[in-house]
Amino acid sequence: MTRLPFIAGNWKMNLTVKEAREFAKEVADKIPATDKVEAAICAPSTHLETLVSLTENSNLNIGAENCHFEKSGAFTGEISPLTLADLGVKYVILGHSERREYFFESDELINKKAKAAFEHGLVPIVCCGETLEQYEASQAVDVITKQLKVDIAGLEKDQAEKLVIAYEPIWAIGTGKSATKEDAQKMCKAVRDVVADIYGQDVADKVRIQYGGSVNPTNIAEYMACPDVDGALVGGASLKVDSFVALLEGGKLA
Ligand code: PEP
Repeated sequence: MTRLPFIAGNWKMNLTVKEAREFAKEVADKIPATDKVEAAICAPSTHLETLVSLTENSNLNIGAENCHFEKSGAFTGEISPLTLADLGVKYVILGHSERREYFFESDELINKKAKAAFEHGLVPIVCCGETLEQYEASQAVDVITKQLKVDIAGLEKDQAEKLVIAYEPIWAIGTGKSATKEDAQKMCKAVRDVVADIYGQDVADKVRIQYGGSVNPTNIAEYMACPDVDGALVGGASLKVDSFVALLEGGKLA
């Protein structure tokens, strides 16, 4: 089955709004055709309105890096999924390893956020991945299976098939030490198998699975050649226009 490749940048807590504005203006007409690759930049919430308005006539989608599971209420400092949707944001990264590690996000919390995201018309990019210690102990498949069984539980079938799941080994994020293409394929296939176990093979065949962890314009093609890798979630290499566009060129359908 042909799935449209999906390359998403994760800016994390980088770039000023001024720099984001310059990026958006410069990149807008450089994004390849939407039938070849889907492109998104996930940015800090402070940057989203600017990015959405500068890219609305382009092929670039905008995503957030997190959201709360409630649409409103007494949650000082949090980001409402309703507000994100209202801004024109399309995607939201959930359960990134940095949020799991530094903000103690549990799989149960990530699941509540995923359900809320869909309820408000956002598509979650749900992240999973193992530590180096777990990788070395050959526990990677068990770890991501345990995470995802909770993270993506209880969705409607039509929601589940729209899911994007990013497999990101923690030891490869921001380290320059990327996974081998064999490991990326094995793990993305394991992700698809979890989706198939919960929602059936027809849904699993539609879900887009990204590899993330030190992806750059040089190594993107080898990941995209793997049958179960449908794209990439990219941190560092998404911060500069040239490099982001090169990732899209390397990831698009021939
Ligand atoms: C990420 O932020 O999800 C990521 C994969 O970062 P990097 O590409 O810099 O490793």
